[in-house]
Amino acid sequence: MSNTALHDTFGRPLASLRISVTDRCNMRCRYCMPEDEYVWLPRESILTFEEITRLVGVFASLGVHKVRLTGGEPLLRHDLASLVAMIARDPRIADLALTTNGLLLAKHAADLRRAGLQRVTVSLDTLRPDRMLAFAKSARHADVLAGIAAARAAGFDRVKINAVVMRGFNDDELADLIEFGRPHGAEVRFIEYMDVGGATRWSTDQVVSQREMLGLLGRRYGAIEPVAGDQRAPAERFRLPDGATFGIIASTTAPFCASCDRSRLTADGHWFLCLYAAQGIDLREPLRHGASDQELAALIAGPWRGRADRGAEERLAVRERGALYPIESLRADPHREMHTRGG
Ligand code: SAM
Repeated sequence: MSNTALHDTFGRPLASLRISVTDRCNMRCRYCMPEDEYVWLPRESILTFEEITRLVGVFASLGVHKVRLTGGEPLLRHDLASLVAMIARDPRIADLALTTNGLLLAKHAADLRRAGLQRVTVSLDTLRPDRMLAFAKSARHADVLAGIAAARAAGFDRVKINAVVMRGFNDDELADLIEFGRPHGAEVRFIEYMDVGGATRWSTDQVVSQREMLGLLGRRYGAIEPVAGDQRAPAERFRLPDGATFGIIASTTAPFCASCDRSRLTADGHWFLCLYAAQGIDLREPLRHGASDQELAALIAGPWRGRADRGAEERLAVRERGALYPIESLRADPHREMHTRGG
Protein backbone atom coordinates (compact mmCIF):
# COMPACT_ATOMS: atom_id res chain seq x y z
CA MET A 1 0.00 0.00 0.00
CA SER A 2 1.29 3.47 -0.84
CA ASN A 3 2.10 5.94 1.91
CA THR A 4 1.23 8.77 -0.40
CA ALA A 5 -2.53 8.03 -0.40
CA LEU A 6 -4.54 11.06 -1.35
CA HIS A 7 -7.56 12.09 0.66
CA ASP A 8 -10.64 13.97 -0.49
CA THR A 9 -12.50 16.74 1.31
CA PHE A 10 -14.14 14.17 3.61
CA GLY A 11 -10.86 12.39 4.34
CA ARG A 12 -11.66 9.45 2.06
CA PRO A 13 -8.55 7.91 0.50
CA LEU A 14 -8.10 7.19 -3.19
CA ALA A 15 -7.76 3.44 -2.72
CA SER A 16 -9.99 1.46 -5.02
CA LEU A 17 -10.40 1.63 -8.81
CA ARG A 18 -13.08 -0.16 -10.81
CA ILE A 19 -12.23 -0.48 -14.44
CA SER A 20 -14.91 -1.10 -17.03
CA VAL A 21 -13.03 -2.91 -19.78
CA THR A 22 -15.98 -2.90 -22.20
CA ASP A 23 -19.43 -1.33 -22.32
CA ARG A 24 -20.80 -4.39 -24.14
CA CYS A 25 -22.80 -7.05 -22.32
CA ASN A 26 -24.27 -10.41 -23.25
CA MET A 27 -27.18 -10.04 -20.83
CA ARG A 28 -30.03 -7.55 -20.70
CA CYS A 29 -30.90 -7.34 -17.01
CA ARG A 30 -33.96 -5.24 -16.38
CA TYR A 31 -32.22 -3.25 -13.64
CA CYS A 32 -29.21 -2.32 -15.78
CA MET A 33 -29.57 -2.77 -19.57
CA PRO A 34 -33.25 -3.35 -20.33
CA GLU A 35 -33.06 -2.26 -23.97
CA ASP A 36 -31.97 -4.47 -26.87
CA GLU A 37 -29.72 -1.85 -28.48
CA TYR A 38 -27.52 0.86 -27.08
CA VAL A 39 -25.27 3.67 -28.22
CA TRP A 40 -21.88 2.00 -27.86
CA LEU A 41 -18.55 3.70 -27.25
CA PRO A 42 -16.64 4.10 -30.52
CA ARG A 43 -14.18 1.25 -31.00
CA GLU A 44 -11.16 3.53 -31.48
CA SER A 45 -11.88 5.24 -28.18
CA ILE A 46 -11.50 2.02 -26.16
CA LEU A 47 -8.29 1.98 -24.14
CA THR A 48 -5.73 -0.66 -25.07
CA PHE A 49 -4.37 -2.98 -22.38
CA GLU A 50 -1.14 -0.97 -22.40
CA GLU A 51 -3.07 2.25 -21.84
CA ILE A 52 -5.13 0.73 -19.02
CA THR A 53 -2.00 -0.67 -17.37
CA ARG A 54 -0.24 2.67 -17.60
CA LEU A 55 -3.19 4.43 -15.96
CA VAL A 56 -3.32 1.77 -13.25
CA GLY A 57 0.33 2.53 -12.58
CA VAL A 58 -0.41 6.24 -12.22
CA PHE A 59 -3.37 5.53 -9.92
CA ALA A 60 -1.18 3.16 -7.89
CA SER A 61 1.41 5.92 -7.46
CA LEU A 62 -1.38 7.95 -5.82
CA GLY A 63 -2.50 5.21 -3.42
CA VAL A 64 -4.79 2.89 -5.36
CA HIS A 65 -4.15 -0.67 -4.21
CA LYS A 66 -7.43 -2.37 -5.09
CA VAL A 67 -8.50 -2.90 -8.71
CA ARG A 68 -11.70 -4.56 -9.90
CA LEU A 69 -12.30 -5.34 -13.56
CA THR A 70 -15.91 -4.96 -14.58
CA GLY A 71 -18.11 -3.69 -17.39
CA GLY A 72 -20.37 -4.27 -19.31
CA GLU A 73 -19.36 -7.87 -19.24
CA PRO A 74 -15.58 -7.94 -18.77
CA LEU A 75 -15.16 -11.45 -20.20
CA LEU A 76 -16.39 -10.16 -23.56
CA ARG A 77 -13.10 -8.28 -23.81
CA HIS A 78 -10.79 -10.44 -25.88
CA ASP A 79 -7.87 -11.98 -23.95
CA LEU A 80 -8.75 -10.41 -20.62
CA ALA A 81 -6.25 -12.70 -18.89
CA SER A 82 -3.43 -10.76 -20.57
CA LEU A 83 -4.66 -7.54 -18.99
CA VAL A 84 -4.90 -9.32 -15.64
CA ALA A 85 -1.29 -10.47 -16.00
CA MET A 86 -0.13 -6.94 -16.86
CA ILE A 87 -1.87 -5.40 -13.85
CA ALA A 88 -0.87 -8.25 -11.53
CA ARG A 89 2.78 -7.45 -12.22
CA ASP A 90 2.40 -4.20 -10.27
CA PRO A 91 3.22 -5.07 -6.64
CA ARG A 92 1.31 -2.01 -5.42
CA ILE A 93 -1.97 -3.63 -6.52
CA ALA A 94 -2.61 -5.84 -3.50
CA ASP A 95 -6.11 -6.86 -4.50
CA LEU A 96 -7.11 -7.67 -8.09
CA ALA A 97 -10.70 -8.82 -8.61
CA LEU A 98 -13.28 -9.37 -11.34
CA THR A 99 -17.05 -8.97 -11.43
CA THR A 100 -18.73 -11.07 -14.12
CA ASN A 101 -22.12 -12.43 -15.04
CA GLY A 102 -20.41 -15.80 -15.33
CA LEU A 103 -21.61 -16.75 -18.81
CA LEU A 104 -18.05 -17.13 -20.12
CA LEU A 105 -16.33 -17.89 -16.83
CA ALA A 106 -16.03 -21.66 -17.24
CA LYS A 107 -13.94 -21.06 -20.36
CA HIS A 108 -11.62 -18.49 -18.79
CA ALA A 109 -11.41 -19.21 -15.04
CA ALA A 110 -8.17 -21.21 -15.12
CA ASP A 111 -6.38 -18.69 -17.38
CA LEU A 112 -7.48 -15.79 -15.21
CA ARG A 113 -6.24 -17.53 -12.11
CA ARG A 114 -2.88 -18.32 -13.71
CA ALA A 115 -2.61 -14.71 -14.84
CA GLY A 116 -2.83 -13.51 -11.24
CA LEU A 117 -6.48 -12.70 -10.65
CA GLN A 118 -7.15 -13.02 -6.92
CA ARG A 119 -10.91 -12.84 -6.53
CA VAL A 120 -14.04 -13.40 -8.57
CA THR A 121 -17.55 -12.15 -7.96
CA VAL A 122 -20.30 -13.72 -10.04
CA SER A 123 -23.67 -12.06 -10.48
CA LEU A 124 -26.46 -14.56 -9.97
CA ASP A 125 -29.87 -13.13 -9.16
CA THR A 126 -31.98 -16.25 -9.45
CA LEU A 127 -31.66 -20.02 -9.34
CA ARG A 128 -34.53 -20.39 -11.78
CA PRO A 129 -33.56 -20.48 -15.45
CA ASP A 130 -37.08 -19.36 -16.49
CA ARG A 131 -36.72 -16.25 -14.34
CA MET A 132 -33.32 -15.44 -15.79
CA LEU A 133 -34.72 -15.79 -19.29
CA ALA A 134 -37.61 -13.46 -18.55
CA PHE A 135 -35.53 -11.02 -16.53
CA ALA A 136 -32.19 -10.88 -18.32
CA LYS A 137 -33.06 -12.29 -21.74
CA SER A 138 -30.53 -15.07 -21.33
CA ALA A 139 -31.21 -18.80 -21.60
CA ARG A 140 -27.73 -19.65 -20.36
CA HIS A 141 -28.37 -20.14 -16.65
CA ALA A 142 -26.44 -23.42 -16.69
CA ASP A 143 -23.35 -21.60 -17.99
CA VAL A 144 -23.35 -19.31 -14.96
CA LEU A 145 -23.48 -22.30 -12.61
CA ALA A 146 -20.72 -23.97 -14.60
CA GLY A 147 -18.71 -20.75 -14.32
CA ILE A 148 -19.01 -20.73 -10.52
CA ALA A 149 -17.92 -24.37 -10.34
CA ALA A 150 -15.01 -23.71 -12.71
CA ALA A 151 -13.85 -20.76 -10.63
CA ARG A 152 -13.72 -22.95 -7.55
CA ALA A 153 -11.93 -25.68 -9.46
CA ALA A 154 -9.39 -23.14 -10.72
CA GLY A 155 -8.49 -22.24 -7.14
CA PHE A 156 -10.59 -19.15 -6.43
CA ASP A 157 -11.53 -20.09 -2.91
CA ARG A 158 -13.42 -16.90 -2.08
CA VAL A 159 -15.94 -16.69 -4.91
CA LYS A 160 -18.71 -14.24 -4.10
CA ILE A 161 -22.19 -14.19 -5.53
CA ASN A 162 -23.91 -10.85 -6.17
CA ALA A 163 -27.70 -10.87 -6.22
CA VAL A 164 -29.72 -7.73 -6.82
CA VAL A 165 -32.95 -8.20 -4.91
CA MET A 166 -36.12 -6.88 -6.51
CA ARG A 167 -39.63 -7.11 -5.20
CA GLY A 168 -41.76 -9.53 -7.19
CA PHE A 169 -38.75 -10.96 -9.02
CA ASN A 170 -36.44 -12.83 -6.69
CA ASP A 171 -37.32 -11.72 -3.15
CA ASP A 172 -38.55 -15.26 -2.47
CA GLU A 173 -35.10 -16.73 -3.27
CA LEU A 174 -32.87 -15.20 -0.59
CA ALA A 175 -32.53 -18.37 1.46
CA ASP A 176 -32.25 -20.52 -1.67
CA LEU A 177 -29.30 -18.42 -2.87
CA ILE A 178 -27.56 -18.76 0.50
CA GLU A 179 -28.13 -22.53 0.41
CA PHE A 180 -26.81 -22.68 -3.15
CA GLY A 181 -23.66 -20.84 -2.08
CA ARG A 182 -22.81 -23.15 0.82
CA PRO A 183 -21.43 -26.20 -1.03
CA HIS A 184 -19.66 -23.86 -3.45
CA GLY A 185 -17.96 -22.02 -0.60
CA ALA A 186 -19.53 -18.90 -2.09
CA GLU A 187 -20.77 -16.06 0.08
CA VAL A 188 -23.85 -14.29 -1.25
CA ARG A 189 -24.10 -10.52 -1.18
CA PHE A 190 -27.61 -9.20 -1.61
CA ILE A 191 -27.69 -5.80 -3.29
CA GLU A 192 -30.51 -3.32 -2.90
CA TYR A 193 -31.92 -2.25 -6.26
CA MET A 194 -30.24 1.07 -7.08
CA ASP A 195 -31.47 3.93 -9.25
CA VAL A 196 -28.23 4.09 -11.21
CA GLY A 197 -28.07 5.24 -14.83
CA GLY A 198 -29.48 2.36 -16.86
CA ALA A 199 -32.12 1.43 -14.30
CA THR A 200 -34.73 3.25 -16.36
CA ARG A 201 -37.60 1.27 -14.81
CA TRP A 202 -36.55 1.90 -11.21
CA SER A 203 -39.17 2.76 -8.59
CA THR A 204 -39.04 2.79 -4.80
CA ASP A 205 -41.67 0.10 -4.39
CA GLN A 206 -39.41 -2.46 -6.14
CA VAL A 207 -36.58 -1.90 -3.65
CA VAL A 208 -36.29 -4.57 -0.97
CA SER A 209 -34.44 -2.86 1.85
CA GLN A 210 -31.71 -4.36 4.01
CA ARG A 211 -34.09 -4.29 6.95
CA GLU A 212 -36.69 -6.25 5.00
CA MET A 213 -34.12 -8.78 3.78
CA LEU A 214 -32.96 -9.35 7.35
CA GLY A 215 -36.59 -9.83 8.40
CA LEU A 216 -37.19 -12.41 5.67
CA LEU A 217 -34.02 -14.34 6.49
CA GLY A 218 -34.58 -14.04 10.26
CA ARG A 219 -37.99 -15.68 9.92
CA ARG A 220 -36.41 -18.57 8.05
CA TYR A 221 -33.22 -19.08 10.06
CA GLY A 222 -33.67 -17.42 13.47
CA ALA A 223 -31.51 -14.72 15.06
CA ILE A 224 -29.03 -13.12 12.65
CA GLU A 225 -25.91 -11.46 14.01
CA PRO A 226 -23.82 -8.74 12.41
CA VAL A 227 -20.19 -9.70 11.69
CA ALA A 228 -17.65 -7.05 12.63
CA GLY A 229 -15.45 -6.20 9.68
CA ASP A 230 -13.96 -3.74 7.27
CA GLN A 231 -15.71 -0.37 7.66
CA ARG A 232 -14.76 0.55 4.11
CA ALA A 233 -16.36 -2.50 2.51
CA PRO A 234 -19.72 -1.71 0.93
CA ALA A 235 -21.31 -4.93 2.20
CA GLU A 236 -22.38 -5.33 5.79
CA ARG A 237 -21.85 -8.95 6.72
CA PHE A 238 -24.12 -11.13 8.83
CA ARG A 239 -24.04 -14.59 10.36
CA LEU A 240 -26.89 -17.09 10.54
CA PRO A 241 -27.32 -19.18 13.70
CA ASP A 242 -25.71 -22.13 11.87
CA GLY A 243 -22.57 -20.09 11.11
CA ALA A 244 -23.17 -19.35 7.42
CA THR A 245 -22.38 -15.77 6.47
CA PHE A 246 -23.81 -13.43 3.87
CA GLY A 247 -23.60 -9.74 3.02
CA ILE A 248 -26.01 -6.96 2.18
CA ILE A 249 -25.08 -3.91 0.16
CA ALA A 250 -27.63 -1.34 1.23
CA SER A 251 -26.60 1.34 -1.25
CA THR A 252 -30.14 2.60 -1.67
CA THR A 253 -31.50 2.80 1.89
CA ALA A 254 -28.22 3.10 3.85
CA PRO A 255 -25.53 4.38 1.49
CA PHE A 256 -21.84 4.05 2.36
CA CYS A 257 -20.76 7.39 0.87
CA ALA A 258 -19.01 8.35 4.12
CA SER A 259 -16.39 5.65 3.60
CA CYS A 260 -16.42 5.39 -0.21
CA ASP A 261 -12.85 5.10 -1.47
CA ARG A 262 -13.72 4.00 -5.00
CA SER A 263 -13.69 5.63 -8.36
CA ARG A 264 -14.37 4.29 -11.82
CA LEU A 265 -12.59 4.29 -15.13
CA THR A 266 -14.66 3.70 -18.27
CA ALA A 267 -13.46 1.59 -21.18
CA ASP A 268 -12.74 4.82 -23.08
CA GLY A 269 -10.72 6.40 -20.30
CA HIS A 270 -13.23 8.66 -18.54
CA TRP A 271 -12.73 8.75 -14.80
CA PHE A 272 -15.76 9.08 -12.51
CA LEU A 273 -15.39 10.00 -8.85
CA CYS A 274 -18.86 8.72 -7.94
CA LEU A 275 -21.26 6.20 -9.46
CA TYR A 276 -23.87 8.98 -9.58
CA ALA A 277 -21.56 11.76 -10.87
CA ALA A 278 -22.97 13.69 -13.83
CA GLN A 279 -19.54 14.26 -15.38
CA GLY A 280 -16.32 12.32 -15.66
CA ILE A 281 -12.78 13.46 -16.36
CA ASP A 282 -11.30 12.50 -19.70
CA LEU A 283 -7.91 10.87 -19.10
CA ARG A 284 -7.71 9.33 -22.59
CA GLU A 285 -7.07 12.54 -24.47
CA PRO A 286 -4.07 13.59 -22.39
CA LEU A 287 -2.85 9.98 -22.31
CA ARG A 288 -2.93 9.77 -26.09
CA HIS A 289 -1.43 13.22 -26.54
CA GLY A 290 1.80 12.55 -24.73
CA ALA A 291 1.07 13.48 -21.11
CA SER A 292 3.76 12.25 -18.73
CA ASP A 293 2.93 10.09 -15.73
CA GLN A 294 3.41 13.16 -13.51
CA GLU A 295 0.97 15.16 -15.63
CA LEU A 296 -1.58 12.35 -15.52
CA ALA A 297 -1.10 12.06 -11.75
CA ALA A 298 -1.81 15.77 -11.41
CA LEU A 299 -5.03 15.38 -13.44
CA ILE A 300 -6.14 12.72 -10.95
CA ALA A 301 -4.83 14.16 -7.69
CA GLY A 302 -6.44 17.59 -8.02
CA PRO A 303 -10.02 16.38 -8.52
CA TRP A 304 -9.65 13.72 -5.83
CA ARG A 305 -8.46 16.30 -3.29
CA GLY A 306 -11.51 18.38 -4.13
CA ARG A 307 -13.92 15.42 -4.19
CA ALA A 308 -17.10 16.10 -2.23
CA ASP A 309 -19.39 13.56 -3.95
CA ARG A 310 -22.01 11.82 -1.84
CA GLY A 311 -24.16 10.67 -4.74
CA ALA A 312 -26.15 7.89 -3.06
CA GLU A 313 -26.82 10.01 0.05
CA GLU A 314 -28.05 12.85 -2.12
CA ARG A 315 -30.40 10.47 -3.93
CA LEU A 316 -31.72 9.36 -0.55
CA ALA A 317 -32.80 12.94 0.11
CA VAL A 318 -34.82 13.19 -3.14
CA ARG A 319 -38.52 13.25 -2.24
CA GLU A 320 -40.21 12.03 -5.41
CA ARG A 321 -37.54 9.52 -6.28
CA GLY A 322 -37.72 7.78 -9.67
CA ALA A 323 -35.27 6.68 -12.37
CA LEU A 324 -32.10 8.80 -12.36
CA TYR A 325 -32.09 9.30 -16.14
CA PRO A 326 -34.70 8.60 -18.81
CA ILE A 327 -33.56 6.50 -21.77
CA GLU A 328 -33.27 9.53 -24.11
CA SER A 329 -30.77 11.15 -21.77
CA LEU A 330 -28.73 7.94 -21.62
CA ARG A 331 -28.72 7.71 -25.40
CA ALA A 332 -27.47 11.30 -25.58
CA ASP A 333 -24.63 10.52 -23.15
CA PRO A 334 -23.78 6.84 -22.76
CA HIS A 335 -21.26 7.73 -20.06
CA ARG A 336 -24.26 7.98 -17.75
CA GLU A 337 -24.96 4.28 -18.16
CA MET A 338 -24.01 1.92 -15.34
CA HIS A 339 -22.65 -0.53 -17.91
CA THR A 340 -20.35 2.18 -19.30
CA ARG A 341 -18.96 3.46 -16.02
CA GLY A 342 -18.66 0.00 -14.51
CA GLY A 343 -20.88 -1.59 -11.90
N1 SAM B 1 -21.52 -7.86 -16.25
C1 SAM B 1 -20.90 -8.00 -14.97
C2 SAM B 1 -21.85 -8.60 -13.97
O1 SAM B 1 -23.01 -8.88 -14.34
O2 SAM B 1 -21.45 -8.83 -12.85
C3 SAM B 1 -20.26 -6.74 -14.41
C4 SAM B 1 -21.00 -5.45 -14.58
S1 SAM B 1 -22.50 -5.33 -13.64
C5 SAM B 1 -23.00 -3.67 -14.04
C6 SAM B 1 -21.86 -5.22 -12.00
C7 SAM B 1 -22.86 -5.40 -10.88
O3 SAM B 1 -23.75 -4.31 -10.87
C8 SAM B 1 -23.69 -6.67 -10.99
O4 SAM B 1 -23.58 -7.44 -9.82
C9 SAM B 1 -25.08 -6.13 -11.14
O5 SAM B 1 -26.03 -6.97 -10.57
C10 SAM B 1 -25.00 -4.79 -10.44
N2 SAM B 1 -26.05 -3.86 -10.84
C11 SAM B 1 -26.35 -3.44 -12.08
N3 SAM B 1 -27.42 -2.62 -12.06
C12 SAM B 1 -27.80 -2.50 -10.76
C13 SAM B 1 -28.84 -1.79 -10.10
N4 SAM B 1 -29.72 -1.06 -10.78
N5 SAM B 1 -28.91 -1.91 -8.77
C14 SAM B 1 -28.04 -2.66 -8.08
N6 SAM B 1 -27.04 -3.36 -8.65
C15 SAM B 1 -26.92 -3.29 -9.98
